[in-house]
Parts: sequence; structure tokens; C-alpha cells
Amino acid sequence: MSDPAPVQHFIRSIIEADLASGKHAAITTRFPPEPNGYLHIGHAKSICLNFGLAVDYQGACNLRFDDTNPEKETEEYASAIQEDVRWLGFNWHGEVRWASDYFPALYDYAEQLIGKGLAYVDDLTPEEMREYRGTLTQPGRASPHRARTTEDNLDLFRRMKAGEFPDGSRTLRAKIDMASPNINLRDPVIYRIKRAHHIRTGDTWCIYPMYDYTHCISDALENITHSLCTLEFEDHRPLYDWVLDQLSVPSHPRQIEFSRLELHYTVTSKRKLNQLVTQGFVSGWDDPRMPTIHGMRRRGYTPAGIREFARRIGISKSDNVIDMGVLEGCIREDLETKVPRVMAVLNPLKVTLSNYQEGVTASRAAGFHPNHPEFGERDVPISREIWIEQDDFSENPPAGWQRLTIGGEARLRYSYVIKCDEVVKDTEGRVIELRCSIDHETLGKNPVGRKVKGVIHWVSKAHALPIEARLYDRLFLDAEPDSHKDRDFLEFLNPESLTVVNGWAEACVAQAAPETRYQFERLGYFCADRYDHQPGERMAFNRTVTLKDSWSK
Ligand code: ATP
Ligand code: MG
Repeated sequence: MSDPAPVQHFIRSIIEADLASGKHAAITTRFPPEPNGYLHIGHAKSICLNFGLAVDYQGACNLRFDDTNPEKETEEYASAIQEDVRWLGFNWHGEVRWASDYFPALYDYAEQLIGKGLAYVDDLTPEEMREYRGTLTQPGRASPHRARTTEDNLDLFRRMKAGEFPDGSRTLRAKIDMASPNINLRDPVIYRIKRAHHIRTGDTWCIYPMYDYTHCISDALENITHSLCTLEFEDHRPLYDWVLDQLSVPSHPRQIEFSRLELHYTVTSKRKLNQLVTQGFVSGWDDPRMPTIHGMRRRGYTPAGIREFARRIGISKSDNVIDMGVLEGCIREDLETKVPRVMAVLNPLKVTLSNYQEGVTASRAAGFHPNHPEFGERDVPISREIWIEQDDFSENPPAGWQRLTIGGEARLRYSYVIKCDEVVKDTEGRVIELRCSIDHETLGKNPVGRKVKGVIHWVSKAHALPIEARLYDRLFLDAEPDSHKDRDFLEFLNPESLTVVNGWAEACVAQAAPETRYQFERLGYFCADRYDHQPGERMAFNRTVTLKDSWSK
């Protein structure tokens, strides 16, 4: 990776101080996804932060699945997540880790808490528990079971594990402080009974530890030095520290919070993204309109572009609501110097070159990139019939028009200047063909005695490859679709977020492997679809991002 220098932020300052003071000789971070969905752009921010810090400070970053909710977690999600982390350009330290690897240790620690009088088995129903918990303004009340003896608690907890009680009938709770102003400390549940098949441990367990209890101990067992999470966990930090303070764990990591990324015109919540998939609003988690890493990949976004985005948006504790344009800008900049440029026509209008001999093909070599001769070149063939873009012709053009109009001239990119002599219309008056003549003296030369400013792209009809182009617009019509109290985010879906057109491209793209990226000149950056790539079928290209059209008007 040869990414630009990192931008300084408060977490880097903390790490630098900890290394300078000798508190840590090296850092270890972790990325802890729950395998209950595909990762999205917000997770990419966290991945770039955690793995990026390990790279920058020559430390290590673990990949640990937080797999404590067996009903929602699948192997498919877990393997997609690993693929995403690698695709973004990162490697985790050692084997993939799973919170479930620590289930036996977590159980033993729970018995230790019980032994110290710091945890008890409760029989309250979830409703009762909510009622006893109190509110932000009212302290909680002790459960009638809070005073159980250590022997009773140990016996009941062992029987919970042994499967003697029905799901949800009992919990193990940490005994902290029912009057704490921080509700997270009002005797949080640390184990629940749930008969669910787990992707790793199968049916071994019928009790599962809660996230807050699991996470801090997992961090400690892995000797994580800096445990980075999003701001909603700030109020959980006292619980994180409390658990570790009561137990003799190998280390006590420092939890540090930063703000979540939110992107305009999309949603960054696995639950909502899941809804889009299961209710069929998109074709899957990897639909190119999705803000998932799989979706962005399929659309043609690059790992370096996403990493640059993470670098630019920075890390802080203040709101991190970012416009989609920032992300698109990073992708565009990365593609600008990296991908070959070819021509394609998406809304074809036939042009007959009336003074070009029938049955003859000539061709000219054209470089794949104006600033990168090392990308090589291909031949661009021309013949009597070509396709141009419908909107490169206007019968009644506005002032300053430089493209084709009746009697007007324009240059065919890499080829001749042509003049439009005649327009052919169908019975409804629609333009269906142009008859143009070539100025044979203009190949690689300016025409004599006049200036032709407009340059248009085109393909030779006899040589072009049929393609399907998928053009994307924002997935939502509202900048913050999930911010409306009384309206569901689905109400703001953009019905026109996908347009599919059949067009033509230069034949040289026919050999493109899935995920090959191109600039289609003047139209944008496109990526050969990862999956829809069957021999004999129209090749499908997804528009990654549009261009700032700079070389013609
Ligand atoms: P979601 O709300 O989408 O379900 P999550 O936080 O529940 O996300 P996890 O799998 O628990 O998903 O997240 C793994 C890591 O990614 C966590 O450390 C979490 O803080 C971080 N993360 C999740 N969403 C964002 C975001 N929008 N911005 C930055 N980091 C995020
Ligand atoms: Mg989570």
C-alpha cells in the first residue's frame, strides 16, 4: 500500500503518548464485527482506522467476530466480512478470532463473579426487569432475587447452563448499582438462556453471554491495547472497566470512542440494509446501489479510493455526516490515473458517412490513457456507419453549441471532422439517422480555414460490441432518510435509482475480465459486472461514477 500520509487525530495522539511513555511497547487493535449482515461504508471507516493504526505503528490488528447472537449470525456473513477486509487491503494478525472461542473462559469468569458476590441469577421477566430498572430521572429498584446467596446463585447458574430452565426464564446479572445515574450499571444482564444453534459452537450452549460482558473480556484475553468503538458505547465504558476491574484478566485495554460515519442519501445500519434486501428493494447485499463494501466493489469503487475517503473524513468525536460527493470524488480521483479510456455509446444514433466507401474499414491507433503511454494502445476502426450519442446532435441547438447540428461540424474523437448534411426522421418526426460527410484532410490535422471545437465519441457500427450499461442514481431521495420520526426510511426510496440501457462499446473491451474498470470517455467510469458475465450474453457494465466532463460541451 502506498497511501498518502495519515491525518493526525486524537486516537493517534493517545497511541503516540502510550508508546513514548512506555505504557505499551507495541499496540494491538481489533475490528469486531458481528456476522449478522454485510459490512457497509461505516464499517470501512472502522476497518481503515483499526487496521491502518496497526500498519502505521507496526502493531497488530485482530479480526474478531462478535458472535454472541446466534439466531442472526451466519457463515455467509462471516466469510463475506473476511473477503471485504482483505479486499480493502488489510490483513489481520494470526487466525480469525471468534468471541465464541472464549465461551468457556467467559463462563468461568462468570462463576468467579458469582463467587465474589458480584453476580446473581434473576427470575424477573423482561417486562419486570424494565420496570425495576427505573428511568433517567428515577433510580432503579433491587430485584427480589438480588439477595440470593452465592451457593444458590452458583447452583442456579450451573443449572441454567445444563439446560434445566426454559428460554428467557432466568438471567445472570452483574451486581453493580441499581441507583447509578448510568443505566448501563444498573445490574446489567450478562447471560441469558437461549436455545439457538450457533454457527461455531452448534448446540453446545443454551446460555449466551451478552455483548458488553463478552467484548471487554475478549479484548483483555487478546491483549488489545486500544479498543476503539463508536460513540454510542461511551456510556458503556464504565461497565467495560467494571468487569475487567473485578476479574484477574491478562490486560485492561483502554476503550476509546469516535463518531460514526453517516453518509447522505443512504443508510448505514445493517438492520435497515437487511430490510432493503429481504423486501426486494435491491437485488441483494451486493447490489451496486448499496453502501455495502460488496455493493461498492461490484459498482467499481476501488479499495484505494475507499481508504482515501476514510483518511479524508478523519476521526473525531464530533458528528461525521458526509456528503456522497466526497466519497465519489475519492473514487473518481483514484480511477482517473489508473484505468484505460475507451469509447462507448449508450443512447445510439446512427450516422452514415456518405462519402466513406462502403465495405471499407480503416483504423487508427489510440492510446488508452493520455498521460500514461505505458497503458498501451488499441486500433479504433472506422467504417461507413457509426453510432454517436443522441444528445450530441441537436436540430435547434442553444447558443454556443459545439456538437453536431444541421450544417455543423464536429470531430470524431481520434478521427475525422464530419459535417452533418441531412437528418432522417421517422413518421413521428424523431431523428433516427444523420447523413454526414467526412473532411478527408482532417485526420490528425486541424481543418483548413476554420476551427472545429467540438469533439464527440463514437463507435463503428460494424465493429462495436453490444453492452448493457447500468446507470445509478442515489438510492434515496432524502439526504437523511432515517432521520424522520413519523416516516419510514423506505418511503424515501428513489424509484429511479437504476436505469438500464443497451449500448455499444469498442470491441477491445470484449476481453475484459469481471471487475475490469474503464473510463468510457465523456460518460463516466464503468466496471465490468462481477457476476453477469456469461459468454454469448451482452456484457454488463456498472457505472461506478460519472465524470466531470471537461473536454467538450
Ligand atoms: P450496524 O449499526 O450497522 O448494525 P454495528 O455497529 O452493529 O453496525 P458491528 O458489526 O457491531 O456493527 O460493527 C463492527 C465495528 O464497526 C464496531 O466497532 C462499530 O463501532 C463499527 N461501526 C459500525 N458502524 C459504523 C459507522 N457507521 N461508522 C464507524 N464505525 C462503525
Ligand atoms: Mg453491533
